[in-house]
Amino acid sequence: MRYIFITKNPAQTRKIAAKLSREIFKLKSDKKAIVIGLIGELGSGKTVFSQGFAKGLGIKENITSPTFVLERVYKLKAKSYKLFIHIDAYRLEKSKDLIDLGFKNLIRDPKNIILIEWADRVKSILPKNCIKIKFEHKDKDKRKIWMNRKIK
Ligand code: ADP
Ligand code: MG
Repeated sequence: MRYIFITKNPAQTRKIAAKLSREIFKLKSDKKAIVIGLIGELGSGKTVFSQGFAKGLGIKENITSPTFVLERVYKLKAKSYKLFIHIDAYRLEKSKDLIDLGFKNLIRDPKNIILIEWADRVKSILPKNCIKIKFEHKDKDKRKIWMNRKIK
């Protein structure tokens, strides 16, 4: 992964995330959903990133980790995109569990933006063009964030 950011507090992580989601939001929808996979240990900042990402999409609700419900769905107000789907794969054992949740239909709809925490648990069903973001916990407030996509 080529693009690296160092953040020194949660606000910086949220800001990068919001920048990315605003860029995505402006794109015309493609043939399939946009999928963003977040990878990193507990407390590395995946949910904090998700909060910034949702904010960049214009979502006003407070985003929390959908660890127990597995997924939460938010409405979007744009022509190209209708739903933001926040998935937490922490409790899933394997890719098939996500397929059982109807993941294939979600991915098929170009009007969806899907963000998955613990994406490494469901690697085999992530689309090829998945945006991948890896979080490394450096010290208390310092995180290293790797992406396979450039932010302008
Ligand atoms: P995960 O979803 O990866 O388990 P969370 O986003 O829930 O992690 O938690 C990250 C924790 O680390 C939060 O308590 C947050 O306040 C803290 N934190 C400290 N520094 C940062 C940073 N630079 N970026 C993101 N979170 C940070
Ligand atoms: Mg989380």
